[in-house]
Amino acid sequence: MSGLQRMLDDIEMEVNLTRHLIGKDALDDRVMAAIKQVPRHKFLPANLRFLAYDNSPAPIGSGQTISQPYIVALMTDLLNTQPTDTVLEIGTGSGYQAAILSKLVKQVYSLEVIEELADKASLRFKKMGYNNVTVKTGDGHFGWPEHAPFDGIMVTAATPDIPQPLIDQLRTGARLIIPVGSPYNHQELTVIEKQANGKTKNRSILSVGFVPLTGGHYTEATGKDTD
Ligand code: SAH
Repeated sequence: MSGLQRMLDDIEMEVNLTRHLIGKDALDDRVMAAIKQVPRHKFLPANLRFLAYDNSPAPIGSGQTISQPYIVALMTDLLNTQPTDTVLEIGTGSGYQAAILSKLVKQVYSLEVIEELADKASLRFKKMGYNNVTVKTGDGHFGWPEHAPFDGIMVTAATPDIPQPLIDQLRTGARLIIPVGSPYNHQELTVIEKQANGKTKNRSILSVGFVPLTGGHYTEATGKDTD
């Protein structure tokens, strides 16, 4: 069996084991098909490629990690994408999650706070022909207002507070998928849906372990300070 097939089987098995938490026995076929199309080994440092098809996170340099395939699949499923969508990802990292999203939507925007990772991911997308992914170095707390509203936003780093600009930049009816909780502590993968009245409906799915969402301090120019 190929490594990729083993990884797909492991995702399906873990989905089944967690079916009571996620409320379904299997993920969307479109999501699984997208995962099948993206070579995960190309998103890992050369010396760690042997780990590419394990259902586990792995280091990608700069103290960051590529998420566990099951979590990537689950978060992608929860985003409920349509082929015509424009979505925003916060935390490009290796670019793997953005590459999966690129197979499912019209346009992916992705923000990464570490310039070196953003540049590497950008180059990787160019080389691999993922032409509908645009990466920028920046603090995801502020979203990417020039391209809003988004049909979905996914945050792949954990924060105790949901950044308000991300809610503001969601289209009505769209979802924000975000791990809510303290870094290296208990975090809940949360689905936030923006209602017609501008309010949000939140649903916790399961416990997860993400690296922290850093930054988030407003500059003096905005007149606001979150400290
Ligand atoms: N989605 C990635 C995994 C990301 S790990 C992948 O598929 O590989 C989380 C990433 O979030 C890290 O690369 C980290 O640098 C980034 N990050 C942390 N805080 C951030 C912020 N405020 N804005 C944008 N990116 C941030």
